[in-house]
Amino acid sequence: MKRLNIIVIGAGMGGLSAATALRQAGHHVEVYDRVSELRPAGAAISVWSNGIKVLNQLGLGDAIAAAGGQMDRMAYYHKAGNLLTDFSLEPLYTQVEQRAYPIARTELQRILLNAVGEEHVHLGMSCVDFNQTPEGVMATFEDGSQTTGDLLVIADGTHSRLRDKVVGFHVERRYAGYVNWNGSVPATKDLAPATSWVQYVGDHQRVSMMPMGGAAGEERFYFFFDVPQPTGSDNNPSRYRDELSHHFSDWAAPVQRLIERLDPATMARVEIHDIAPLPTLVSDRVALLGDAGHGMAPDLGQGGCQAMEDAWVLARCLDNAEGSSATDTINQALAAYDAARCERVADIITRARKRAETTHGKNPQQTQQWYEELAVEDGHHIIDGMCKTILSGPLE
Ligand SMILES: Cc1cc2nc3c(=O)[nH]c(=O)nc-3n(C[C@H](O)[C@H](O)[C@H](O)COP(=O)(O)OP(=O)(O)OC[C@H]3O[C@@H](n4cnc5c(N)ncnc54)[C@H](O)[C@@H]3O)c2cc1C
Repeated sequence: MKRLNIIVIGAGMGGLSAATALRQAGHHVEVYDRVSELRPAGAAISVWSNGIKVLNQLGLGDAIAAAGGQMDRMAYYHKAGNLLTDFSLEPLYTQVEQRAYPIARTELQRILLNAVGEEHVHLGMSCVDFNQTPEGVMATFEDGSQTTGDLLVIADGTHSRLRDKVVGFHVERRYAGYVNWNGSVPATKDLAPATSWVQYVGDHQRVSMMPMGGAAGEERFYFFFDVPQPTGSDNNPSRYRDELSHHFSDWAAPVQRLIERLDPATMARVEIHDIAPLPTLVSDRVALLGDAGHGMAPDLGQGGCQAMEDAWVLARCLDNAEGSSATDTINQALAAYDAARCERVADIITRARKRAETTHGKNPQQTQQWYEELAVEDGHHIIDGMCKTILSGPLE
């Protein structure tokens, strides 16, 4: 097909994955981000096997495997420290034919930026509007400048200011009912085993530690704490340690050590939101991608993975479209993208929301039942659920 000029708004993991996939498909792509320096919010991310499969296809698999953490097992403990379940993730990796890699967000960004080429990423460019014409699409930036292209990919994240114009109505973010504090600490045996994803649960709260890689001898754990709270609570790093000490005062010794060792200055605190599934992700020459199109609760660890899937699918839809003109080709490709992605991401938004509610006590009886199920879990149910999510992706 014809080489298209593609504008991507947002240089998060969605925009950069899209730019990589589209450039590799032969298109001319320029990425614009409003920040003057790219600094991902949050310490790390777990890229599950479906996301890794996309990154492999983009030729980034070796770099990700080298930078990512070695996550071989998964364990749940009750808040008091008694083990509920501990199982190998090997059966998961065998069934889906790919390991998962938790990875520092800065490392993932570095790998994606290298793949795109920094000269194609324009910073300090806040997109405020776009307009479509029969011949193309024009993006307008806060400084008054404009750029034109054949196709506009909007990957400006969960707070997207451009999404409403694509779907034709105002999209409200929905509070998921809990606050998440996250960061990283040196990986030591007195916190958790080096290659296990360990979670403590109780009181509708959760603490997680996950191996996120790092130079030899300097490996780190990505940690997070979840606490159900009303929205609008104070966000003050100088109070993080006290808040966590208060919420987790009677939790097991590794949780107390984690609270002692964390560095509030390098942490993030997020009120978790999602958006209801959208009826469409496209409008003429414009496609929503990543959180802009499907912000979801992080409880399945799928937001970033879905952005990567979007990127791969969009590039393939453009490859496969055979219109009689560029406009025709783009229309066909975006219709195919919409058909391939809308239902997939709607299902994951819904399941992530349910998972968030169960973990965080929306219905306390249901949460209690989950704790009881964990105590008799041998890994099968959890792995089956993960397989379902991973294997229904575009790269199976
Ligand atoms: C606590 C937490 C844990 C998570 N854990 C996981 C996990 O383990 N696994 C997983 O797959 N996902 C996880 N996620 C989800 C994941 O972080 C997101 O899905 C992912 O970051 C979305 O990427 P994105 O590129 O769509 O958006 P973003 O990363 O938000 O990037 C959007 C970019 O757009 C830019 N931008 C915004 N507005 C404009 C504008 N007007 N003009 C120009 N640029 C603009 C921003 O500066 C930003 O760089 C988690 C999320 C949270 C909150």
